Amino acid sequence: SPVIVWFRRDLRLSDHPALNAAARTGRPIIPLFVLDDAVHVLGAAPKWRLGQGLEVFAQSLTRIGSRLTIRRGDALTVIQALIAEVGACAVYWSRAYDPAAIARDSALKASLSGQGVEAKSFAGHLLFEPWTVATKTGQPFRVFTPMWRSVQGRDVPEPLASPSRLPAPSEWPDTEQLETWKLAAAMNRGAAIVSPFVQPGETAAFDTLHSFLDRIPNYATLRDRPDLDGTSDLSEYLSLGEISPRCTWHAVQRAAMNGVSGTEPYLRQLVWREFAYHLMYHSPQLLSRNWKPEWDSFPWNTDATHPDVIAWKQSRTGIPMVDAGLRQMYVTGRMHNRARMIVASYLTKHLMTHWKIGMDWFADCLVDWDPAANAMGWQWVAGSGPDASPFFRVFNPQTQREKFDPNAAYVNRWIAEGQRDPPDTALAYFEAVPRSWALDPSRTYPAPVVELAQGRVRALTAYEGRKIQ
Ligand code: FAD
Repeated sequence: SPVIVWFRRDLRLSDHPALNAAARTGRPIIPLFVLDDAVHVLGAAPKWRLGQGLEVFAQSLTRIGSRLTIRRGDALTVIQALIAEVGACAVYWSRAYDPAAIARDSALKASLSGQGVEAKSFAGHLLFEPWTVATKTGQPFRVFTPMWRSVQGRDVPEPLASPSRLPAPSEWPDTEQLETWKLAAAMNRGAAIVSPFVQPGETAAFDTLHSFLDRIPNYATLRDRPDLDGTSDLSEYLSLGEISPRCTWHAVQRAAMNGVSGTEPYLRQLVWREFAYHLMYHSPQLLSRNWKPEWDSFPWNTDATHPDVIAWKQSRTGIPMVDAGLRQMYVTGRMHNRARMIVASYLTKHLMTHWKIGMDWFADCLVDWDPAANAMGWQWVAGSGPDASPFFRVFNPQTQREKFDPNAAYVNRWIAEGQRDPPDTALAYFEAVPRSWALDPSRTYPAPVVELAQGRVRALTAYEGRKIQ
């Protein structure tokens, strides 16, 4: 009787402990993906990107003699039905760490164990399981640097090899057709516009990693420059599990052993991803509430239909560095980390808008959307999070531009207005947005919705009045 391997955010063959364990049983393997609407509350871009990833992943399974079965519905019901159909004796999967997935997986484990079906979860999404990392007093970390120090010397096991062949069942179960799921339906920015910027799948992930290894010596100096190609672009692959963090970690360590310099700042960044998961696992309120409750009384704007918020979402705040970041995200599904911090600071401080509104917009637009990194990033910038940037440190988008985009190359790549011959990237934004936004590249660039100095003073006044720590 077969083993079902339930794939979720781990669409890969390499370094996949659950798949390896299934292969070791010698039994036929049925790879399954379930679109569980209760848990996959995905925004438009991540949903579209998931579809891209599933298509490529199904092909890679076919190449090793297997087949991806996809079904839609409540995961427990779908899996129970499939077990009954194929007589499976076990279900294996890679762990997820957000509260909705944990509740679902625990319920599945309990129900399968009760009926004598082996239900087993494996590591795979992280370098370090969140419960294996703790402070000296055995508490979860709340601050990044001590966590980084505590894991720096730790052994990260070598990645597992991809299986070259997967044993097939005598008969494949029925599968739904991916096209019928219409995962691109919510992409009112044309999916065709985002497509050229996205190369889904495991092979593309390794190509991206290898090309980055040539550039890694410059990572520390270039990583803050949105105008340059200084970072790895691996986030969307890590987010969907098209590459494992372990493969990434070891590739970088090997490069270091071969004399490549400057690898440590990159490993540190990978541990920021671990930190986000550590926080979310131990304190799931990271996703939904101010980490520091004293922020609950702050007079945030919580109206997502406020004209300032609409201007921010439509990338016409009149602040070029802010609009450039937001437009880059709308067109490519990605945004440089420096720009993420700048646009988030402008929304939460100059526009005094609740970070959740920004977090939700990112969740709708990012192909690398990740629940933990997104929530941590927003709470960090807003000042409400653990180990956060202090609220009084308001990013000035203009001085940030001068420092990190010194030739205005990034701004010019994304802001068409005012340029005699705007590049295709800047024009693509106007093709991507819905007509109802009535945007036109030939118009003059808008005046700031909130002037920088005025917005800063307003935010700091509100903050000082409250004495929030
Ligand atoms: P690199 O600089 O090459 O970093 C390597 C990897 O380390 C990344 O791929 C990512 O997995 C991880 N990483 C780097 N920085 C961070 C960080 N600050 N927090 C957590 N992990 C990090 N990242 C996401 O993957 N998904 C999100 O939804 C997301 N939302 C964010 C929201 C805000 C407001 C902010 C400030 C940051 C957010 N980040 C998010 C973190 C970061 O911006 C991206 O991981 C990074 O820009 C991805 O580009 P890269 O792969 O080239 O990064």
